[in-house]
Amino acid sequence: MFDYLIVGAGFAGSVLAERLAVSAGKKVLLIDRRNHIGGNAYDHYNDDGLLVHKYGPHIFHTNSHHVFEYLSRFTEWRPYEHRVRASVDGLLLPIPINLDTINELYGLSLTSFELKEFFASVAEPCEHVRTSEDVVISKIGRELYEKFFKGYTKKQWDLDPSELDASVIARVPTRTNRDDRYFTDTYQAMPLHGYTRMFENMLDHPNIKIMLNTDYQDIDGIIPYREMIYSGPVDEFFGFRYGKLPYRSLEFKHETVNKEVHQSAPVINYPNEHPYTRVTEFKYLTGQEHSKSAIVYEYPRAEGDPYYPVPRPENSELYQKYKALAEATANVHFVGRLATYKYYNMDQVTAQALALFDKLRAQRVIGEGEMETVVANGNGNGNGKHSSNGNGHRRKDGSA
Ligand code: FAD
Ligand code: UDP
Repeated sequence: MFDYLIVGAGFAGSVLAERLAVSAGKKVLLIDRRNHIGGNAYDHYNDDGLLVHKYGPHIFHTNSHHVFEYLSRFTEWRPYEHRVRASVDGLLLPIPINLDTINELYGLSLTSFELKEFFASVAEPCEHVRTSEDVVISKIGRELYEKFFKGYTKKQWDLDPSELDASVIARVPTRTNRDDRYFTDTYQAMPLHGYTRMFENMLDHPNIKIMLNTDYQDIDGIIPYREMIYSGPVDEFFGFRYGKLPYRSLEFKHETVNKEVHQSAPVINYPNEHPYTRVTEFKYLTGQEHSKSAIVYEYPRAEGDPYYPVPRPENSELYQKYKALAEATANVHFVGRLATYKYYNMDQVTAQALALFDKLRAQRVIGEGEMETVVANGNGNGNGKHSSNGNGHRRKDGSA
């Protein structure tokens, strides 16, 4: 009998597995339907011995001392500040847009002060900034919006920026100084030996058993456990009862080139040309020295593994219905980017998982000797085992 079945071995599931096993002495079964741990942050050495991120570039950055300190228990770090260029009008320009971007694009030599005036002169006033289009146009006007954001967003989401919440494009700021870093967080670093090694260290505990290539529906009702932590797509958990929640997918095309350096920046974004959105060269991120170099192209897709929740009002409404179901489901805790339908970065998911652990502890669900009492009452079947019928979610065959 496991105390916890944890579905999904990404940041959400792995952080909780570690906390429950190490800090609360619980016996945990961690499963993933993929053949590896790490979720979307998984990295590995390819056939040429180059460290690559299977699911696209993952750069760690956070302002949370708590999150950074926690993850530092499992890895050393390599200092790394991410820089991105956008291919616009035949030039490779810094993105986020900054002073150099504008000066290079228009052949000017504005000062920061003059750039502020320039932005003010091209910005279109907007009373309520609701959409991703509003965010950009209200700050830097239509021309820059069309050069840097409109095409990229259309490709990435298959939606016009006017159909997406402001929060999506607001991830990319605009600057009037020369700071060309993609992020300005206090802590910016890459796990020195990669993400997968960090996850291995996190999960290396006798109370944690790992089963890969396993969908939770394959073992539900076969392997007994008391509580579930679920980090997969929330609509799938409930058999798509209210319809499908849109998640955006990507296809990753990995390549090794037979030269030391492929491109002039870690990531180059292509807002206007090519069917892919961006190209990443991993050696910049990993610091690896090698005579060859590995790159990845990202092609946005409607179908495929769910990678991005799609932030817009109607999806948020639909998610609220699933959230209500989730809250009414005894003994199952929903956490992570897919299960809470939030466009979260790795540090935010880590913080969310640590907060769930604190909540479980505060509720004394995981207090010493409390488990049996609390769960037996909650489940009503006396043996503390989670039952899918009792919890009302569907099995693979569609039965409740
Ligand atoms: P996931 O990593 O998706 O893990 C969920 C796991 O659950 C998966 O492994 C899945 O196989 C498993 N699962 C689902 N359903 C089932 C089931 N029924 N049975 C068994 N297993 C199941 N964040 C950053 O901070 N910096 C970045 O630079 C960055 N870049 C990104 C680039 C891309 C292309 C993408 C897609 C994301 C990026 N992110 C980045 C976000 C980051 O990937 C997520 O914040 C983080 O991985 C989410 O962790 P998670 O545990 O919630 O979900
Ligand atoms: N974006 C854009 N042009 C760019 C970079 C980003 O239009 O050059 C928009 C696009 O809609 C993208 C969003 O901003 O999906 C968030 O960008 P980010 O780089 O944070 O995306 P992620 O790394 O999460 O895929």
